[in-house]
Amino acid sequence: MLSAVGPPVTVRVPAKVNLHLAVGELRPDGFHDLVTVFQALNLFDEVSVVAAHTAQSRGPVTHIGPGGPGVELLGDVDAEAAGVPLDATNLAWRAAVALGEEVGREPDVRIGIRKAIPVAGGMAGGSADAAGTLLALATLWRLDIGREGLMEVAARVGSDVAFALHGGTALGTGRGENLVPVLSRHTFHWVVALQDHGLSTPAVFGELDRLRAASDVKRIGDVEPVLEAVASGEARSLALLLGNDLQAAAVSMDPGLRRTLRAGVAAGALAGVVSGSGPTCIFLCTDGPTAVRVAAELAGAGVCRTVRVAHGPVPGAKVIDGDPAR
Ligand code: ATP
Repeated sequence: MLSAVGPPVTVRVPAKVNLHLAVGELRPDGFHDLVTVFQALNLFDEVSVVAAHTAQSRGPVTHIGPGGPGVELLGDVDAEAAGVPLDATNLAWRAAVALGEEVGREPDVRIGIRKAIPVAGGMAGGSADAAGTLLALATLWRLDIGREGLMEVAARVGSDVAFALHGGTALGTGRGENLVPVLSRHTFHWVVALQDHGLSTPAVFGELDRLRAASDVKRIGDVEPVLEAVASGEARSLALLLGNDLQAAAVSMDPGLRRTLRAGVAAGALAGVVSGSGPTCIFLCTDGPTAVRVAAELAGAGVCRTVRVAHGPVPGAKVIDGDPAR
Protein backbone atom coordinates (compact mmCIF):
# COMPACT_ATOMS: atom_id res chain seq x y z
CA MET A 1 0.00 0.00 0.00
CA LEU A 2 1.17 3.52 -0.75
CA SER A 3 0.40 6.66 1.14
CA ALA A 4 1.39 10.32 1.28
CA VAL A 5 3.27 11.33 4.44
CA GLY A 6 3.30 14.86 5.84
CA PRO A 7 2.23 18.16 4.28
CA PRO A 8 3.29 19.06 0.72
CA VAL A 9 5.76 21.79 -0.17
CA THR A 10 4.66 23.97 -3.09
CA VAL A 11 6.95 26.04 -5.28
CA ARG A 12 6.02 28.59 -7.93
CA VAL A 13 8.37 28.74 -10.89
CA PRO A 14 8.40 31.09 -13.89
CA ALA A 15 8.58 30.60 -17.66
CA LYS A 16 11.50 32.07 -19.55
CA VAL A 17 11.91 33.93 -22.79
CA ASN A 18 15.14 34.55 -24.65
CA LEU A 19 15.72 38.20 -25.52
CA HIS A 20 18.82 37.12 -27.42
CA LEU A 21 19.67 33.59 -28.51
CA ALA A 22 22.87 33.17 -30.51
CA VAL A 23 23.52 29.60 -31.60
CA GLY A 24 27.13 28.54 -32.27
CA GLU A 25 28.34 25.52 -34.21
CA LEU A 26 27.32 21.95 -33.42
CA ARG A 27 29.70 20.54 -30.76
CA PRO A 28 31.04 16.98 -30.79
CA ASP A 29 28.72 16.17 -27.85
CA GLY A 30 25.70 17.00 -30.03
CA PHE A 31 24.92 20.30 -28.28
CA HIS A 32 25.46 23.82 -29.59
CA ASP A 33 27.30 26.57 -27.77
CA LEU A 34 24.82 29.28 -26.91
CA VAL A 35 25.02 32.90 -25.88
CA THR A 36 21.64 33.86 -24.59
CA VAL A 37 19.87 36.44 -22.47
CA PHE A 38 17.08 34.89 -20.45
CA GLN A 39 14.25 36.78 -18.82
CA ALA A 40 11.77 35.18 -16.41
CA LEU A 41 8.12 36.16 -17.00
CA ASN A 42 5.11 36.01 -14.69
CA LEU A 43 3.68 32.87 -16.25
CA PHE A 44 4.08 30.26 -13.54
CA ASP A 45 3.85 26.52 -13.07
CA GLU A 46 3.31 25.27 -9.52
CA VAL A 47 5.09 22.17 -8.31
CA SER A 48 4.09 20.38 -5.08
CA VAL A 49 6.05 17.54 -3.55
CA VAL A 50 4.93 15.23 -0.79
CA ALA A 51 6.63 12.18 0.74
CA ALA A 52 5.07 8.98 -0.62
CA HIS A 53 6.31 6.05 1.43
CA THR A 54 5.51 2.44 0.75
CA ALA A 55 3.99 0.57 3.68
CA GLN A 56 6.36 -2.30 2.93
CA SER A 57 10.09 -2.24 3.50
CA ARG A 58 11.68 0.89 2.09
CA GLY A 59 13.56 -0.44 -0.94
CA PRO A 60 14.76 1.63 -3.88
CA VAL A 61 12.02 3.35 -5.91
CA THR A 62 11.90 1.24 -9.05
CA HIS A 63 8.38 2.05 -10.17
CA ILE A 64 6.62 5.38 -10.47
CA GLY A 65 2.90 5.48 -11.07
CA PRO A 66 -0.57 6.27 -9.73
CA GLY A 67 -0.84 6.92 -6.01
CA GLY A 68 2.79 6.27 -5.07
CA PRO A 69 6.12 7.86 -5.92
CA GLY A 70 5.72 9.56 -9.29
CA VAL A 71 4.36 12.57 -11.14
CA GLU A 72 0.82 13.79 -11.72
CA LEU A 73 -0.73 16.84 -13.31
CA LEU A 74 -2.98 18.87 -11.01
CA GLY A 75 -6.05 20.73 -12.27
CA ASP A 76 -8.21 19.97 -15.22
CA VAL A 77 -5.52 18.91 -17.68
CA ASP A 78 -5.19 15.65 -19.53
CA ALA A 79 -1.48 14.84 -19.44
CA GLU A 80 -1.51 12.81 -22.62
CA ALA A 81 -3.40 15.45 -24.57
CA ALA A 82 -1.08 18.12 -23.16
CA GLY A 83 1.97 16.08 -24.17
CA VAL A 84 3.39 15.80 -20.66
CA PRO A 85 4.88 12.37 -19.90
CA LEU A 86 4.04 11.00 -16.45
CA ASP A 87 6.76 8.37 -16.50
CA ALA A 88 10.42 8.49 -15.51
CA THR A 89 11.21 10.77 -18.48
CA ASN A 90 9.32 13.69 -16.92
CA LEU A 91 11.91 16.38 -16.24
CA ALA A 92 10.52 16.96 -12.76
CA TRP A 93 11.05 13.29 -11.92
CA ARG A 94 14.54 13.37 -13.41
CA ALA A 95 15.30 16.33 -11.15
CA ALA A 96 14.07 14.37 -8.12
CA VAL A 97 16.29 11.42 -9.06
CA ALA A 98 19.30 13.71 -9.62
CA LEU A 99 18.87 15.45 -6.26
CA GLY A 100 18.31 12.10 -4.54
CA GLU A 101 21.59 10.82 -6.01
CA GLU A 102 23.39 13.97 -4.93
CA VAL A 103 22.34 13.61 -1.29
CA GLY A 104 22.02 9.82 -1.07
CA ARG A 105 18.22 9.58 -0.79
CA GLU A 106 15.56 7.68 -2.67
CA PRO A 107 13.11 9.95 -4.54
CA ASP A 108 10.18 8.44 -2.65
CA VAL A 109 7.99 11.44 -3.37
CA ARG A 110 4.89 12.31 -5.28
CA ILE A 111 5.22 15.37 -7.50
CA GLY A 112 2.12 17.34 -8.52
CA ILE A 113 2.45 19.86 -11.34
CA ARG A 114 -0.08 22.59 -12.07
CA LYS A 115 0.84 23.76 -15.57
CA ALA A 116 0.33 27.26 -16.92
CA ILE A 117 3.51 27.36 -19.01
CA PRO A 118 2.82 26.07 -22.53
CA VAL A 119 4.16 22.57 -23.25
CA ALA A 120 6.85 22.42 -25.96
CA GLY A 121 6.36 26.15 -26.44
CA GLY A 122 9.96 27.29 -26.18
CA MET A 123 9.32 28.73 -22.70
CA ALA A 124 11.13 25.95 -20.82
CA GLY A 125 8.09 24.61 -19.00
CA GLY A 126 9.67 21.21 -18.37
CA SER A 127 12.83 22.87 -17.07
CA ALA A 128 10.71 25.08 -14.82
CA ASP A 129 9.07 21.98 -13.33
CA ALA A 130 12.49 20.43 -12.77
CA ALA A 131 13.70 23.58 -11.01
CA GLY A 132 10.53 23.73 -8.93
CA THR A 133 11.03 20.10 -7.91
CA LEU A 134 14.63 20.74 -6.83
CA LEU A 135 13.66 23.64 -4.58
CA ALA A 136 10.56 21.90 -3.22
CA LEU A 137 12.49 18.72 -2.41
CA ALA A 138 15.40 20.61 -0.85
CA THR A 139 12.79 22.25 1.38
CA LEU A 140 10.85 19.04 2.12
CA TRP A 141 14.03 17.14 2.93
CA ARG A 142 15.48 20.16 4.81
CA LEU A 143 18.70 19.87 2.85
CA ASP A 144 21.66 22.01 3.73
CA ILE A 145 22.59 22.35 0.08
CA GLY A 146 22.20 26.09 -0.57
CA ARG A 147 21.26 27.81 -3.84
CA GLU A 148 24.74 27.16 -5.29
CA GLY A 149 24.47 23.42 -4.64
CA LEU A 150 21.00 23.32 -6.16
CA MET A 151 22.23 25.28 -9.19
CA GLU A 152 24.90 22.62 -9.78
CA VAL A 153 22.35 19.82 -9.73
CA ALA A 154 20.05 21.94 -11.92
CA ALA A 155 22.74 22.39 -14.57
CA ARG A 156 23.15 18.61 -14.74
CA VAL A 157 19.40 18.04 -15.20
CA GLY A 158 18.97 20.35 -18.21
CA SER A 159 20.14 23.48 -19.98
CA ASP A 160 17.37 25.81 -18.79
CA VAL A 161 16.81 24.39 -15.31
CA ALA A 162 19.41 26.58 -13.60
CA PHE A 163 17.82 29.71 -15.03
CA ALA A 164 14.36 28.74 -13.79
CA LEU A 165 15.83 28.55 -10.28
CA HIS A 166 17.69 31.81 -10.75
CA GLY A 167 14.99 33.94 -12.42
CA GLY A 168 15.34 37.65 -13.18
CA THR A 169 17.40 38.41 -16.28
CA ALA A 170 20.62 36.51 -16.90
CA LEU A 171 23.29 35.91 -19.50
CA GLY A 172 23.62 32.21 -20.23
CA THR A 173 26.57 30.54 -21.98
CA GLY A 174 27.62 26.96 -22.66
CA ARG A 175 24.35 25.11 -23.21
CA GLY A 176 22.73 28.00 -21.34
CA GLU A 177 23.55 26.60 -17.92
CA ASN A 178 26.44 28.94 -17.05
CA LEU A 179 24.64 31.99 -15.74
CA VAL A 180 25.63 35.53 -14.88
CA PRO A 181 22.94 37.88 -13.53
CA VAL A 182 22.17 40.88 -15.73
CA LEU A 183 21.42 44.24 -14.18
CA SER A 184 17.73 44.92 -14.84
CA ARG A 185 15.77 47.15 -12.51
CA HIS A 186 13.05 47.93 -15.05
CA THR A 187 9.94 45.99 -15.98
CA PHE A 188 9.32 45.07 -19.61
CA HIS A 189 5.82 44.36 -20.90
CA TRP A 190 5.18 41.42 -23.18
CA VAL A 191 2.43 39.74 -25.13
CA VAL A 192 2.89 36.00 -25.47
CA ALA A 193 1.18 34.28 -28.43
CA LEU A 194 0.68 30.55 -27.82
CA GLN A 195 0.06 28.00 -30.57
CA ASP A 196 -2.07 24.87 -30.48
CA HIS A 197 0.95 22.65 -31.19
CA GLY A 198 4.56 22.38 -30.04
CA LEU A 199 7.90 22.26 -31.82
CA SER A 200 10.51 19.75 -30.71
CA THR A 201 13.62 21.59 -29.51
CA PRO A 202 16.10 19.03 -30.96
CA ALA A 203 14.23 19.11 -34.29
CA VAL A 204 14.49 22.92 -34.45
CA PHE A 205 18.25 22.80 -33.74
CA GLY A 206 18.53 20.10 -36.43
CA GLU A 207 16.67 22.29 -38.90
CA LEU A 208 19.05 25.18 -38.17
CA ASP A 209 22.06 22.89 -38.85
CA ARG A 210 20.40 21.85 -42.12
CA LEU A 211 19.69 25.45 -43.17
CA ARG A 212 23.23 26.52 -42.29
CA ALA A 213 24.73 23.64 -44.27
CA ALA A 214 22.64 24.59 -47.31
CA SER A 215 23.20 28.35 -47.33
CA ASP A 216 24.56 31.34 -45.47
CA VAL A 217 21.95 31.97 -42.78
CA LYS A 218 22.19 35.45 -41.29
CA ARG A 219 23.20 35.43 -37.63
CA ILE A 220 22.05 37.79 -34.90
CA GLY A 221 24.39 40.50 -33.59
CA ASP A 222 26.49 40.78 -30.44
CA VAL A 223 25.01 40.44 -27.00
CA GLU A 224 26.54 43.54 -25.37
CA PRO A 225 24.04 46.08 -26.77
CA VAL A 226 21.21 43.84 -25.55
CA LEU A 227 22.63 43.92 -22.02
CA GLU A 228 22.88 47.71 -22.22
CA ALA A 229 19.30 48.04 -23.42
CA VAL A 230 18.08 45.78 -20.60
CA ALA A 231 20.02 47.85 -18.06
CA SER A 232 18.62 51.11 -19.47
CA GLY A 233 15.03 49.86 -19.27
CA GLU A 234 14.37 51.37 -22.73
CA ALA A 235 11.84 49.09 -24.38
CA ARG A 236 12.34 50.84 -27.72
CA SER A 237 16.09 50.16 -27.67
CA LEU A 238 15.58 46.56 -26.64
CA ALA A 239 12.95 46.04 -29.33
CA LEU A 240 15.50 46.82 -32.06
CA LEU A 241 17.87 44.22 -30.63
CA LEU A 242 15.62 41.21 -29.93
CA GLY A 243 17.13 38.31 -31.84
CA ASN A 244 16.97 34.54 -32.09
CA ASP A 245 19.11 32.38 -34.37
CA LEU A 246 16.53 29.59 -34.01
CA GLN A 247 13.79 31.75 -35.49
CA ALA A 248 14.69 30.94 -39.12
CA ALA A 249 14.51 27.23 -38.31
CA ALA A 250 11.25 27.50 -36.35
CA VAL A 251 9.67 29.51 -39.19
CA SER A 252 10.97 27.04 -41.76
CA MET A 253 9.24 24.21 -39.86
CA ASP A 254 6.14 26.25 -39.11
CA PRO A 255 5.72 28.93 -41.82
CA GLY A 256 2.52 30.26 -40.20
CA LEU A 257 4.72 31.88 -37.53
CA ARG A 258 5.62 34.58 -40.06
CA ARG A 259 2.00 35.73 -40.01
CA THR A 260 1.89 35.66 -36.22
CA LEU A 261 5.03 37.79 -35.99
CA ARG A 262 3.68 40.32 -38.50
CA ALA A 263 0.29 40.49 -36.79
CA GLY A 264 1.80 41.37 -33.39
CA VAL A 265 3.72 44.31 -34.83
CA ALA A 266 0.69 45.41 -36.89
CA ALA A 267 -1.29 45.35 -33.61
CA GLY A 268 1.09 47.87 -32.04
CA ALA A 269 3.93 45.89 -30.46
CA LEU A 270 7.43 47.37 -30.79
CA ALA A 271 8.83 44.05 -32.05
CA GLY A 272 8.22 40.34 -31.96
CA VAL A 273 10.47 37.30 -31.91
CA VAL A 274 10.09 33.54 -31.65
CA SER A 275 10.71 32.43 -28.06
CA GLY A 276 13.51 29.85 -27.78
CA SER A 277 12.81 27.00 -30.17
CA GLY A 278 9.22 28.21 -30.67
CA PRO A 279 6.46 28.09 -31.67
CA THR A 280 5.50 30.64 -28.99
CA CYS A 281 6.08 34.21 -30.19
CA ILE A 282 6.70 37.09 -27.80
CA PHE A 283 6.03 40.76 -28.45
CA LEU A 284 7.62 43.63 -26.59
CA CYS A 285 5.30 46.58 -25.89
CA THR A 286 5.90 50.10 -24.62
CA ASP A 287 3.80 49.64 -21.47
CA GLY A 288 1.20 47.47 -19.76
CA PRO A 289 -1.95 49.08 -21.26
CA THR A 290 -0.46 48.79 -24.77
CA ALA A 291 0.28 45.12 -24.11
CA VAL A 292 -3.38 44.56 -23.17
CA ARG A 293 -4.52 46.24 -26.40
CA VAL A 294 -2.04 44.31 -28.55
CA ALA A 295 -3.10 41.05 -26.89
CA ALA A 296 -6.78 41.73 -27.61
CA GLU A 297 -6.10 42.51 -31.26
CA LEU A 298 -3.79 39.54 -31.70
CA ALA A 299 -6.35 37.22 -30.10
CA GLY A 300 -8.88 38.27 -32.76
CA ALA A 301 -6.46 37.96 -35.68
CA GLY A 302 -6.63 34.16 -35.90
CA VAL A 303 -2.85 33.74 -35.87
CA CYS A 304 -2.45 31.88 -32.57
CA ARG A 305 -4.36 29.66 -30.14
CA THR A 306 -4.40 32.14 -27.32
CA VAL A 307 -2.53 35.11 -25.91
CA ARG A 308 -1.20 36.12 -22.51
CA VAL A 309 -0.09 39.48 -21.22
CA ALA A 310 3.05 39.12 -19.13
CA HIS A 311 5.87 41.11 -17.62
CA GLY A 312 9.42 40.46 -16.61
CA PRO A 313 11.80 40.13 -15.03
CA VAL A 314 10.33 38.20 -12.08
CA PRO A 315 12.21 36.15 -9.47
CA GLY A 316 13.01 32.48 -9.99
CA ALA A 317 11.59 29.45 -8.18
CA LYS A 318 10.06 30.34 -4.82
CA VAL A 319 8.46 28.30 -2.03
CA ILE A 320 4.87 29.52 -1.65
CA ASP A 321 3.49 26.91 0.73
CA GLY A 322 4.58 24.30 3.23
CA ASP A 323 8.07 25.53 4.14
CA PRO A 324 8.67 23.77 7.49
CA ALA A 325 11.33 26.34 8.35
CA ARG A 326 8.81 29.23 8.28
P1 ATP B 1 12.77 24.46 -23.99
O1 ATP B 1 12.34 25.87 -24.21
O2 ATP B 1 13.49 24.22 -22.69
O3 ATP B 1 13.44 23.82 -25.13
P2 ATP B 1 10.03 23.80 -24.33
O4 ATP B 1 9.39 24.89 -23.54
O5 ATP B 1 10.03 23.93 -25.81
O6 ATP B 1 11.47 23.58 -23.79
P3 ATP B 1 8.85 21.85 -22.63
O7 ATP B 1 7.49 22.34 -22.29
O8 ATP B 1 9.90 22.01 -21.58
O9 ATP B 1 9.35 22.48 -24.00
O10 ATP B 1 8.70 20.33 -23.05
C1 ATP B 1 9.43 19.72 -24.07
C2 ATP B 1 9.10 18.23 -24.03
O11 ATP B 1 9.60 17.69 -22.81
C3 ATP B 1 7.61 17.94 -24.02
O12 ATP B 1 7.13 17.76 -25.31
C4 ATP B 1 7.51 16.68 -23.18
O13 ATP B 1 7.55 15.53 -24.00
C5 ATP B 1 8.77 16.65 -22.32
N1 ATP B 1 8.57 16.90 -20.88
C6 ATP B 1 9.20 16.24 -19.90
N2 ATP B 1 8.84 16.71 -18.70
C7 ATP B 1 7.95 17.69 -18.89
C8 ATP B 1 7.24 18.56 -18.02
N3 ATP B 1 7.35 18.50 -16.69
N4 ATP B 1 6.43 19.49 -18.58
C9 ATP B 1 6.32 19.56 -19.93
N5 ATP B 1 6.97 18.74 -20.79
C10 ATP B 1 7.79 17.83 -20.29
